Amino acid sequence: MSECIFCKIAARELPAEIVFEDEKTIAFKDINPHAPVHVLLVPKQHYTLLDDLPENEEEAGRLLLNVKKVAAILGISGGYKVLVNNGQSAGQVVPHLHVHLLAGKKFAL
Ligand code: AMP
Ligand code: ZN
Repeated sequence: MSECIFCKIAARELPAEIVFEDEKTIAFKDINPHAPVHVLLVPKQHYTLLDDLPENEEEAGRLLLNVKKVAAILGISGGYKVLVNNGQSAGQVVPHLHVHLLAGKKFAL
């Protein structure tokens, strides 16, 4: 999607602090962090919503396993929070599926 900011980051057309990348996923620091560690994991393929993710267990599973991998790369100890806002009413602002990985503070819910 040509006007999508996360597609542009994946294509290196916009800057980001990238912490991990593989064939299908890119992970970078959130520009407006809500915790001392706040990284977004983004499928390189454009899906607007989690609902749009295909019924592909390998692809979906890899995204979640990459959360674990990025947590290890970042040396997170003491736990972390994993969050997907699916749709506007859930608080999704960027219409490209992304997984929030947050750590470094105590979270409510
Ligand atoms: P959401 O509310 O789930 O759509 O979250 C979108 C997140 O993307 C927010 O936490 C923003 O701070 C973050 N964000 C928006 N633009 C950028 C950007 N250019 N680089 C890094 N993070 C961004
Ligand atoms: Zn996109």
